[in-house]
Amino acid sequence: MDREALGGSEIEVDPDALRQKYREERDKRLRPDGATQYLSAEGDLAHFKEDIYAKPVARDPVSVDVGVVIIGGGFSGLLASSDLEKRGVEDFCIIEEASDFGGTWYWNRYPGLACDVESYCYMPLLEEVGYIPTRKYASGQEIFEHCQRLGKHYDLYRRAYFQTTVTSVAWDEDSARWIVKTNRDDVFRARFLIRAGGGLNKPKLPGVPGISRFKGHSFHTVRWDYEYTGGGPTGELVGLKDKKVAIIGTGATAIQCIPHLGAWAKQLYVFQRTPSSINVRANRPTDREWAGSLPHGWQKQRMTNFESMVSGIYQEEDMVADGWTDIFSTVFHFAAPDKNKLTPGDVLQMADFKKMEANRRRIDEIVKDPETAEALKPWYNMMCKRPCFSDEYLQTFNRENVKLVDTKGKGVSEITENAVVVDGQAYEVDCIVYATGFGFGVSSEDQMGYEIYGRNGLSITEYWAQGLKTLHGIHTNQFPNYFVTFGPQGPLSINIPFALQAQTEVIAEIIADCARNKVRTFEVTAEAEVRWQEKLKDKAFSRAKFYEECTPSYYNAEGTSIGFLDLFYFGGPVDYTQVVREWLNNGGIERDIERTYLE
Ligand code: NDP
Repeated sequence: MDREALGGSEIEVDPDALRQKYREERDKRLRPDGATQYLSAEGDLAHFKEDIYAKPVARDPVSVDVGVVIIGGGFSGLLASSDLEKRGVEDFCIIEEASDFGGTWYWNRYPGLACDVESYCYMPLLEEVGYIPTRKYASGQEIFEHCQRLGKHYDLYRRAYFQTTVTSVAWDEDSARWIVKTNRDDVFRARFLIRAGGGLNKPKLPGVPGISRFKGHSFHTVRWDYEYTGGGPTGELVGLKDKKVAIIGTGATAIQCIPHLGAWAKQLYVFQRTPSSINVRANRPTDREWAGSLPHGWQKQRMTNFESMVSGIYQEEDMVADGWTDIFSTVFHFAAPDKNKLTPGDVLQMADFKKMEANRRRIDEIVKDPETAEALKPWYNMMCKRPCFSDEYLQTFNRENVKLVDTKGKGVSEITENAVVVDGQAYEVDCIVYATGFGFGVSSEDQMGYEIYGRNGLSITEYWAQGLKTLHGIHTNQFPNYFVTFGPQGPLSINIPFALQAQTEVIAEIIADCARNKVRTFEVTAEAEVRWQEKLKDKAFSRAKFYEECTPSYYNAEGTSIGFLDLFYFGGPVDYTQVVREWLNNGGIERDIERTYLE
């Protein structure tokens, strides 16, 4: 990693001027409607989320008694399944809305889609299935194929109900089972339930006037329409050769697909509200010799090393040595092996200023038109938005057929029958690509589209009406035999599979233990939930102010500070893993769980 090119300490910055500039830029973006500015893909916008990748398959409704129902066949569901298998629990099934495994990697197929965390860390269970990704950052297609590989390896296809949407989930006291119903009139009666849904799965669209009026073609990046654009995930979008295309949004998704749109569209307009920070990618093919030399247990070790690096835990060696670890080691300012605590706030802030300044200088070096270069510069602290990595994105703005339309923090103002309008100026286009991201919800209904009813018909929304309550983000009082992955109050990590596995391993261990001991019900106590709230508060405090001062995004609920990031445990995933493991090993179940037994 070229530290100097990415922002060494030689860069001079004026902290007061930068603080002022960051505040001004942030204020331009604050708006009274905050997170309610967006539209979901519902009603006359529902076509934005139809499964365009598979034809509907007919089947008769099923009525099934089963040990465990797993809702979701993405990474969480696949990890939960493999963890159950490894512990000898065979009696489970998976319900999945899509037509295959993969979750986000099933739905997202846009050109340029790739893992933005190193694939040797990101792609789960590599050692178990004997696979090594072909590149340091694998393509979306390769990751989707890996999900299919996991499905085959763990014999999951015969247990999967695809194209099946859960419509209701309710606890039945008499039988001590979860009754799960679906849009196909299926009924599953499960002893245990694992809700394995993802966090960012509901496409959102800008709530601007006219969005339904547009007569050209439009789609959201999460349902890329190759029938219209031609080509496939590696590009070759020949259908756009004679098309004027608009893309709205410049987040992590847009950064990956814009180079392909730029290469193929007759004219591309990129509508930007807030620029992303673009760091060096430096993708490369896997060195086969290196891959052959990896010792047993390498993946877990590498994942832990990466996760530690990005959580501020000192490591002798930076195994991944990429843009992520560079950002965090610069910002966390590792000084000496025994100083594994964050350095004081000012030092962190200075490091961040310098890092972002280096980022802005890189733009000047790459983008030829000075006005465009200026508009592409991000003015906020690095972690206010997801940092992006690309060696093609900025370069795309040097193309004659690509124009950046900088909305100066305001966003597009209107969509007409044939144009996108900004500040009174209409840009006529044939096609609009919405790269406007995903909504997230706290309640199950928001996040997954169905409500969950626990004891005595109590819904989880009602239970959480006065505030979220869980233990470890996994267990909820009043909801027996119920486990959640990637839910509120669980861990968040840059490398999400690390956090997911921390949860699925524990869940599988508990379920296997319950099966061995003929446990009928397993329910966390309210007291244990209270203790977890204290722990969450301890860890969350220092972050709140940081995100409050950030430019708006889904991280901070568009500037209102209670956002996506506030939902999670902020001790870091390495710490979370230890906390949960210690809980399990040191009598946590005996202390915090009420159990009843089958006769
Ligand atoms: P984001 O929410 O990050 O970005 C949405 C974009 O749309 C932003 O640039 C936003 O601007 C813009 N936008 C919203 N409304 C308007 C409007 N009215 N006018 C103009 N622009 C508008 O969504 P993404 O899909 O890019 O990314 C979501 C998440 O998905 C990422 O944070 C990341 O976690 C994940 N991801 C991961 C990848 C991986 O490789 N692992 C790749 C891609 C995504 P503004 O910034 O001003 O709000």
